[in-house]
Amino acid sequence: MMKILCLFLWSAFICAAPVKVVTTLPVLKSITEEIGGKLVSVQSLAEPTQDAHFVQPKPTFMKKVRHAQLFIEVGMDLELWAQKVVDSAGNPKVQQAQAGRVMASAGVEPLEVPAVLSREYGDIHPYGNPHIWLDPVRVKKMAENIALALGNIDPKHEESYEKNLKAFKEKIDKELVVWEKKAKAIKDKQILTYHRSWSYFAKRFGFDVVGYVEVKPGIPPTPRHRDAIIKLVKREKVKTILMELFYDPTAPDYIAKKTGAKVVQVPIDVGAVPEAKDYFSLITYILDKLAS
Ligand SMILES: [Zn+2]
Repeated sequence: MMKILCLFLWSAFICAAPVKVVTTLPVLKSITEEIGGKLVSVQSLAEPTQDAHFVQPKPTFMKKVRHAQLFIEVGMDLELWAQKVVDSAGNPKVQQAQAGRVMASAGVEPLEVPAVLSREYGDIHPYGNPHIWLDPVRVKKMAENIALALGNIDPKHEESYEKNLKAFKEKIDKELVVWEKKAKAIKDKQILTYHRSWSYFAKRFGFDVVGYVEVKPGIPPTPRHRDAIIKLVKREKVKTILMELFYDPTAPDYIAKKTGAKVVQVPIDVGAVPEAKDYFSLITYILDKLAS
């Protein structure tokens, strides 16, 4: 009897070893932890205060990825640096088309897909807009992809992942009611954004993005573009310039000074400010900032 019990406990211990997951971004870490709970051990490569497009890979990245069972990225070429990290890590399990490689954006309806694939003038959104996590409804599909991958790699706990996914989706639906109430303050407002990262968020919460401080995604403003934007802001009576914390505020501040619009700086990833401790509080924080 004792022997059987020990055997049971021993195998339970082995089973309890958490799945090692590496994500490119903290927001993916947050979603994975919602789905995996104690069954996963997740590390994010990028810091929440970094521009997700341009992260300088560090030697510690390779070390983390070498031992990962799952590697989760947004995809759509958002993380231009991710494949380089995987290639250097020498872990075949997380190479493309393997069970250990997860593109969280798979199957999510994209916005702004160009008619032809192009990186003309440095456009860093060649497959459409990759900032999909800023739409809480599309995030449900991302969470589904993550839950599916966890179930594949750890079939013993498939039911737990499914249960947590269901709870995550229900929480999104519940919070959405609160978020939409907060968003009434920005409904139908004309807003200028620094980067083309707010398309999903704007569509979900009902405001218009009338222009961008950047010339093109990834291309910083030139004086000529900035002056054209000033005219646009005046013409469209734009009151808000929305930008991420990590962009240079020089041009937005200049535009604000010339037009009377207000610059609102917000995080777009979990942990960039102490209040944004998980996915839900991140969306709440952004909406509160905008509404105020
Ligand atoms: Zn972008």
